[in-house]
Amino acid sequence: MKRRDFLKASLGGTAALLGSSAEARGNLEPAEEAIGMLFDSTLCIGCKACVSKCKEVNDMPPVPMGDETQYDAALDLSPKTLNVIKVYTAGEGTHKDQTEDGFAFEKRSCMHCVDPGCVSVCPVTALTRHPKTGIVAYNADACIGCRTCMTGCPYNVPQFDYDNPFGEIHKCQMCNQAGVERIDNGMMTGCAEACPTGATLFGTRKALLEEAQRRMTLKPGEIYNYPRGDVRNPDSHHEKAVPEYKQHIWGEKEAGGTNVLHISAVPFDKLGMPPLGERSYASISETVQHTLYQYLALPAIALAGLTYVVRRNNNDDDEGES
Ligand code: SF4
Ligand code: SF4
Ligand code: SF4
Repeated sequence: MKRRDFLKASLGGTAALLGSSAEARGNLEPAEEAIGMLFDSTLCIGCKACVSKCKEVNDMPPVPMGDETQYDAALDLSPKTLNVIKVYTAGEGTHKDQTEDGFAFEKRSCMHCVDPGCVSVCPVTALTRHPKTGIVAYNADACIGCRTCMTGCPYNVPQFDYDNPFGEIHKCQMCNQAGVERIDNGMMTGCAEACPTGATLFGTRKALLEEAQRRMTLKPGEIYNYPRGDVRNPDSHHEKAVPEYKQHIWGEKEAGGTNVLHISAVPFDKLGMPPLGERSYASISETVQHTLYQYLALPAIALAGLTYVVRRNNNDDDEGES
């Protein structure tokens, strides 16, 4: 066997692998007709009608505080709560939407990422992104309970039900899972329908992004006619003085973007949002995974090169003997 031939064949394959591994996968684009919600923290009055409606639509039990009360007092997402309203307070906590001595509300539920990390890491495709609506759905029948999705989500959204002997993940599915199907039936999400102020607004991602961008240009103090319900065909409007919005639409770009957008007058780090760049978790992890798989394939490539050279040398020997 000629050692030079072996090395040439093996290293040729290696070079091809390294060349292709340098190609990083980019962020996915929003789905064709992506639907979502716009949460405007400055319009939220903390009434939690959206939390109650979410529980009603999704048939979920209340989370009482202590043994005495039976009403829902959920403080965070859990297998029994897909949507929760949290409050930020500072100092005296007396002025709404102010960072100092103020308070502000924040809605936490699945952000329906444009390029979802949970979908990317699930080994059995139990989580999927709908190609048309962009809704990130969950299939309990396919789920093996490995909980990998919990590590792939930048917002700590998927919740595992440890009390269920079969294990199951719970997260908002935009009120469109089997048995609910509000979106497929032309309805809006439960939380947007219940919200009395339009703080949770429903619509296409495109229309909601335009609405959020419009609000960024409004002059603080001027009166704006805020829509309620579906931004494309509002149930009603209400007039309100424009607050001093932070010039930041959360979800326009964060981690590849989300179909649920947030705007606020208080910085998002105060509202508990994680520090995120523009690149999606999915694009980073898939690029690393593919590179790793390719490097792990090196011994196989070396073996293929070795086999090829041995066969060729054998053929040469056979021809030489005849
Ligand atoms: S879209 Fe539906 S499931 Fe999601 S938070 Fe709103 S009401 Fe709950
Ligand atoms: S917020 Fe988390 S659970 Fe929801 S789509 Fe994004 S990665 Fe998945
Ligand atoms: S229903 Fe609307 S105003 Fe009430 S807590 Fe939910 S988002 Fe805020």
